[in-house]
Amino acid sequence: MPERQGLRIGFDVGGTKISICVLDASGNYVFKTESPTPRDDYAGFLEVASSLLKQAHAAVPEASHASIGLGIPGEIDVVSNTVKNANSTCLIGHDLEADLARVFGQPVRIANDAQCLISSEVHDGAAKGATVAFGVILGTGVGGGVAINGEAWRGNNRLAGEWGHNAFPDRDGGHTGSPCYCGRDNCIETVLSGPALVAAYADATAGENAQLHEIEKMVADGDPVAREVLTEYIDNLGKALATVVGVLDPEVIVLGGGVSSIHAIYRELPERIAAHMFHSSPASPRFATSIVKSRWGPDSGVRGAARLWPLPR
Ligand SMILES: [Zn+2]
Repeated sequence: MPERQGLRIGFDVGGTKISICVLDASGNYVFKTESPTPRDDYAGFLEVASSLLKQAHAAVPEASHASIGLGIPGEIDVVSNTVKNANSTCLIGHDLEADLARVFGQPVRIANDAQCLISSEVHDGAAKGATVAFGVILGTGVGGGVAINGEAWRGNNRLAGEWGHNAFPDRDGGHTGSPCYCGRDNCIETVLSGPALVAAYADATAGENAQLHEIEKMVADGDPVAREVLTEYIDNLGKALATVVGVLDPEVIVLGGGVSSIHAIYRELPERIAAHMFHSSPASPRFATSIVKSRWGPDSGVRGAARLWPLPR
């Protein structure tokens, strides 16, 4: 049963919809709804957010003073305090924190969707209890987030974990990626996003289109081309995550986003990370990090956003 104490409000802003939830202290939904994301209309976006908050307050009057966190597919620039790198481009260049604080009449905390994922998963998900955890979204884009001692760690530049736009690390010096929407070339995202995996299959078959679940099914049925494409993808994911292990060496890596539904990844990825990370005995690499699927899936965004503030006392 949901409680009416320790309430926190979370928003998740996606390309197609904006979700809101009121979570109780135990992580139960007291209220949850969503609305379509207005296209290319910042004023319209603020109106929808305000209307969703009014609905939440009307449904749960006890939440009228609850904290508000917001997950966005982008970052807040540390210098200008405006949104950057967002897929929902109408947010770019705006001081979203200040504008929402004005509209809502209270302060808000904003983090990117991967930081919300790991914030949710360390609270009551697949990384619960981990001292250091890394969350990865392998979806339309690629993002990452860090949690330390049970809380999302955003970092001095608010970029902690955001390695999707670092250069894809290739020891052989090959050029694996393609031009990225961020204006650069060879970003990790262009190699490891869901669309990149779909495109790799289309390339390998001279233009056959298959969605992620179809590629997974073909692998299970023994299709050699799909197998080769997935093997290369998992190896590339191992290369990119070996750099994370070399810096952070987390206890748990949580995967979210569309690609995280492919089961073979959990079997095969540990060995591929081990193959690319530093260790003293290359013949028998030992890899001690758990790689797990997000417990809350698409709900991680809204649940993690609610957890950007501490529990009220
Ligand atoms: Zn990029």
